Amino acid sequence: MGRMVPWADTLQRLRETVSTGRAKPAEFRRVQLQGLERFLNDNKQLLQEALAEDLRKSDFESEVSEISISLAEVKLALKNLRAWMKDEKVSKNLATQLDSAFIHKEPYGLVLIIAPWNYPINLTLVPLVGALAAGNCVVLKPSEISRSTEKVLCEVLPRYLDPSCFAVVLGGPQETGQLLEEKFDYIFFTGSPRVGKIVMSAAAKHLTPVTLELGGKNPCYVHDDCDPQTTANRVAFFRFFNAGQTCVAPDYLLCSREMQERLLPALQSAITRFFGADPQVSPDLGRIISDRHFQRLQGLLRCGRVAIGGQSDPQDRYIAPTVLVDVQETEQVMQEEIFGPILPIVMVGSMDEAIEFIRRREKPLALYAFSQSSQVVRRVLAGTSSGGFCGNDGFMHMTLASLPFGGVGASGIGHYHGKFSFDTFSHHRACLLRPSGLEKVYGLRYPPYSPGKLRLLLTAMETPGCSCTLL
Ligand code: NAD
Repeated sequence: MGRMVPWADTLQRLRETVSTGRAKPAEFRRVQLQGLERFLNDNKQLLQEALAEDLRKSDFESEVSEISISLAEVKLALKNLRAWMKDEKVSKNLATQLDSAFIHKEPYGLVLIIAPWNYPINLTLVPLVGALAAGNCVVLKPSEISRSTEKVLCEVLPRYLDPSCFAVVLGGPQETGQLLEEKFDYIFFTGSPRVGKIVMSAAAKHLTPVTLELGGKNPCYVHDDCDPQTTANRVAFFRFFNAGQTCVAPDYLLCSREMQERLLPALQSAITRFFGADPQVSPDLGRIISDRHFQRLQGLLRCGRVAIGGQSDPQDRYIAPTVLVDVQETEQVMQEEIFGPILPIVMVGSMDEAIEFIRRREKPLALYAFSQSSQVVRRVLAGTSSGGFCGNDGFMHMTLASLPFGGVGASGIGHYHGKFSFDTFSHHRACLLRPSGLEKVYGLRYPPYSPGKLRLLLTAMETPGCSCTLL
């Protein structure tokens, strides 16, 4: 007897849509994307209020990092849908000259999107755009931790989309664990590496392909030739954005003792200019999402020595923008992703030592290098690996839909944004259509085999673009 689960009917409804192919036509996809666009335009204020309730996110940050990014993705998909859906012709060899060879992008079918709480609109809707544009049916599982946003996504968003191809399912770890026992055709997960492993194991049982957008510690190397104030402004902006709860935030600084001494007053100056003498009363600094994360971060404040900030208020879940110095590599703050407004500085003797330090650790989601010399930036780039890289700034690279966004190694598998999202949610089907006649020509490959036939076949099958001069 089947277990009674609240989403059984929902999944069955969506699977039926998949099997009828109803969500495949371009027009159906277009209508869904337009619905998503209307959802964002009609409910901007509601979304901003929800984000303020969950994270005390300022309207400014909600607009730039959640709503406008999602809208831009919808618009890009609407504009390019036809072009993205087009079969891609591929080069041919002599043996396939008379055939039609192309890559056909087809939807996987039923897609599960699991999202975290730190950018609860962006990280649900941006993948959703790609999944719907690619013609899939989607189950969206928002984070239960960002409760107000979860409520808007569950109560309002479905009104804008066709219920035969879209549903929101709610749940925490236990319910999501049960949901993962179901067979999906693709799973797109954003969250921690720990849960990423759970998702991948569950997917493995059905051989379901996954994208895992995970986190980690993003290093930020500051070379001795940098202007300390410019560097401090940029690092502080990206570290303290969303109260530090950003998967691509610079997690720690690597620099020399001399640079540290110059950076500290510059960081203090940036923090005071951004948030005033008492950042707790600034409307522009967010709050920690939950008591659990607040306590975890309070623990991290005990690592090294507080050079700037360090104050906290549990009632308000407020943690001051903080800079830690004299931090040991073995301390907790250097062992886990910080995910809060705390910036440790680790001293290194040289750029090569910084590269060594980075290479000893898991490959990060993002990596930053600051220097007036483009050679230095390029040497850090060449000597390391990471999901993304930005020279002389914070996570600007991820605001470009023309760049793939994703991790490598422990920071994730796969990538998305813009056309990369469409491709991620599409199966790339290899197609060759051959005329039914011409058996005299094609018959040359059949037994009985001979050296002459072999020569002919090998020549005909040579890859174009190599040394083949026959075509
Ligand atoms: P999380 O892994 O705790 O939760 C993510 C999602 O998984 C939530 O929807 C949650 O309900 C679900 N979940 C939690 N436990 C589960 C379990 N045992 N079984 C099945 N599902 C479970 O992550 P979080 O705390 O919401 O987000 C923070 C993490 O996400 C950080 O590590 C951060 O770096 C990462 N992150 C990555 C990106 C990216 O784009 N690469 C973006 C944002 C956040």
